[in-house]
Amino acid sequence: MSLRLPFTALLLLSTAGIAAEKGQPPITAQTSLSGGPLDPIQKKLTLDTADLQIEVDPEREVINGIALLNFTARDRINKVVVDLDKNYTVTSVQVDGVDAAFANPEGRMTITLAKKVAKESKLAIKIVYGGRPHTAVRAPWDGGFVWSKTPDGRPWMATAVQMEGCDLIWPCIDYPTYEPQKVDLHITVPKGLKAPSNGKLLGVTQMDDGRTIWNWEVKHPNLYGIALNVGPYEELSGTYKSKFGNEIPMFYWYLPGEKDKAEKLFAEVAPTLDFYESVVGPYPWADEKVGVVETPHKGMEHQTINAYGNDYAKSPDGFDSLFQHEFGHEWFANQLTASNWDDFWLHEGFTAYMQPLYGRWREGDGRYTAMMLASRTGIVNKSPIVAGKPQSAEDVYVRAPGRGGDIYTKGSWTLHTLRNAVGDKAFAEILRREVYGRSDPAPGNFTTQFRTTPEFIAIVNQVTGQDWQWFFDVYLYSAALPKLVVTRNATQLTLKWVAPNGKPFPLPVEVVVDDAVQKVAMTGGIATITVPESAHVVVDPMSRVLKQDDAVDAYQAWKADQAKK
Ligand SMILES: [Zn+2]
Repeated sequence: MSLRLPFTALLLLSTAGIAAEKGQPPITAQTSLSGGPLDPIQKKLTLDTADLQIEVDPEREVINGIALLNFTARDRINKVVVDLDKNYTVTSVQVDGVDAAFANPEGRMTITLAKKVAKESKLAIKIVYGGRPHTAVRAPWDGGFVWSKTPDGRPWMATAVQMEGCDLIWPCIDYPTYEPQKVDLHITVPKGLKAPSNGKLLGVTQMDDGRTIWNWEVKHPNLYGIALNVGPYEELSGTYKSKFGNEIPMFYWYLPGEKDKAEKLFAEVAPTLDFYESVVGPYPWADEKVGVVETPHKGMEHQTINAYGNDYAKSPDGFDSLFQHEFGHEWFANQLTASNWDDFWLHEGFTAYMQPLYGRWREGDGRYTAMMLASRTGIVNKSPIVAGKPQSAEDVYVRAPGRGGDIYTKGSWTLHTLRNAVGDKAFAEILRREVYGRSDPAPGNFTTQFRTTPEFIAIVNQVTGQDWQWFFDVYLYSAALPKLVVTRNATQLTLKWVAPNGKPFPLPVEVVVDDAVQKVAMTGGIATITVPESAHVVVDPMSRVLKQDDAVDAYQAWKADQAKK
């Protein structure tokens, strides 16, 4: 376990003392993509397990690594292809203990096998690499390594690579479904620093010179969820007694001098678990830990070591929404993982919806509705939130106008509208099947799930016994929102849905006529009800339905004008 890392390599590769500028060294187009097209050879491989020894040198801003990767060939192959940022110098590659030829011109590294191997062959590949990693510009959005200092001037670093992928840190196959079954991490840090990371701590190895090696083991890690965190952390810990009968260790690593604030945040962990375990289901990583670490960047859903950088912000909602959001990704991103980045909204839409649902859990419908309406103005409807074809993370987040925000807000409002349409009981069942692949999740009876949007829709149809394709065709696969056209004459009120491209949209709507609420079935997308001439009418009084809204459109246009001034 405590293998010493090659210091000769460290000295050769370092640019001592010169801090990297943001965005440096630059990365190739290949490395900047996560989940882009797979290489044909990668399609013939699974990465079964990985063992990563990584030494972090915060003074020089370099790392050195030894990656032991165990693959299975799913077909006859004579090469192995892994993704690794070419800014790292690779000093050695071995296949089953024998030196192998390799080339890594663009961040996609080809390793030549001595001979063609048969289908189902196992390959153990050892890659020794090191150098100065890519520095984040604006983590977590433009990610990479974040080299920072604590207020008292000590080294503090983190990684956040969701957009660019695991290949900024270690040699991997940077595609969502290539999660190894297990990753072992051995992180070496200078004297006085700690390295909280993913999964279960197997032990800390003390070296003679004061350095320590932090040995972690994580099962089924989400690839962008593997993270390095180094700092002079202090630690809070506790045990959560789950309603499912098990006990879960909880940890928070925070910067020295913040004990009071840290204790207040740590006190939010158990009630947040109460909510998620009740509304979604069992915490997926109970046999490892709940882990939160303070980071120099805002936040990221690193599996069992959630990044928290919200500076203990206060909110009238009464809880730390950033912590609550990132923690929700343990279910929606880490337990359930989108099969392709086109399904990114399965991470962000569901997790964004968990904040108003938590408001409702804590305080009731008033808080819930206030939080929903606060997010409504953020929906821009410029691109559909699902394209229906393979996408990289960047395609979704950056390239399609407005999509990067709408996967959160419009995703959340789509689920809000769905819950109101199918009811709480069916919605809870949909969540369980979606997240765990079964109706009765309990500790030990489920494993991680990869999901596409069509699979989610199939679950909704199964649970409700109805076909909801028309609903998702409009909310997920169309850019524009459906418009509810309301006309009234002396005795009648007519409601008519106008959905993009004339799509069918028979979604029921509530109407208040004077003091009486009625639910209007919109069969065929249209309905007429009798309304006395003197009656006061409010359509959708509880804002249960996501629809085009003149006031929101006018507000957004005015805000855009203001921003130009
Ligand atoms: Zn998120």
